[in-house]
Amino acid sequence: MQNRKNDRKKLKTLVKLIILVIALASLFYLSIDRLDLEEQSPTSVSQNQNSQQEEISQPKQNQEEVTGEMFVHMIDVGQADSFLFVQGENTMLIDCGTRGEGDDVVSYLQELGIEKIDVLVGSHPHDDHMGGMKKVIDAFEVSQIYVSDVSNCEITSNWYATLWETIMEENLPHQTLKNGDYFNVGQMQVELLAPIAYQGSNINNYSLVMKVSFGQTDILMTGDAETEIEEEILALGEDLDVEVLKMGHHGSDTSSSEAFMQATSPEYVLISAGIANKYHHPCETTMQYLEDNQIPVYRTDESGTVIMETDGKTIRFDKKPGDYLSGDELEQKKAA
Ligand SMILES: [Zn+2]
Repeated sequence: MQNRKNDRKKLKTLVKLIILVIALASLFYLSIDRLDLEEQSPTSVSQNQNSQQEEISQPKQNQEEVTGEMFVHMIDVGQADSFLFVQGENTMLIDCGTRGEGDDVVSYLQELGIEKIDVLVGSHPHDDHMGGMKKVIDAFEVSQIYVSDVSNCEITSNWYATLWETIMEENLPHQTLKNGDYFNVGQMQVELLAPIAYQGSNINNYSLVMKVSFGQTDILMTGDAETEIEEEILALGEDLDVEVLKMGHHGSDTSSSEAFMQATSPEYVLISAGIANKYHHPCETTMQYLEDNQIPVYRTDESGTVIMETDGKTIRFDKKPGDYLSGDELEQKKAA
């Protein structure tokens, strides 16, 4: 009896052992399967990533196929801004100079044979950007007005009130823009980078910052946005590389921080400023950076109106680049 009991015990132990071995073996197999899956999954993810990248870049490539040219007129409006974008029959005017310069902007456009403005942008409600806007609205058919939301600022200027009376009376389509908005004007694509979050009292910092793209040519229009806003834009972590940069705030040292200049890495820069302006724009530090980095600068205080032309690949200007003198130095040179 004792022997049989022992034999059964031995048999039971053997069966248990076999079951354990089978269990261990299947666990081992399962873990190998898992390993295989894990090894496969990164490959399949990267394949997905590749296909996603292709999908993302595909429409961009299509967008980069443009026909004809885009012209950018940096209109000489003294110590102010007014930039006319023309692409085929399509027109966009960003800022209109001061109240005093409004008539000059109107006649400049009329001389070009322009009768309608598809998109009229007021970067921010300062006289040197939107002062001339009423005269432009009175003179041309305007399809769409884009402005910045400044509803938490108290703007008491009479000219600004009159401008809005006109816009409301004429029932002109108008809309505020912010970061993340897009619109097209013909083949020109416009992406809004700012405003983002700024809520302070500096009206310059409500400037619409817009990337205008035509084919592979990107031009960044910054209004008078200062370094605080440049930091907000940099914090977005987007690719900011552009071919042309309109220097912020007429070349003031309150804009165009080194970090922003490096991120945008422009091949050419535009500065709209008036000779002998009381703000000393463009500033010495700004011009020194441009000289140190040998970035060609086109400036209205030296060259008057400057016209840029691009087929979406190559960029040409109708004037030679200006020098790297600050506003004050240029004033002294011209006086001498
Ligand atoms: Zn300004």
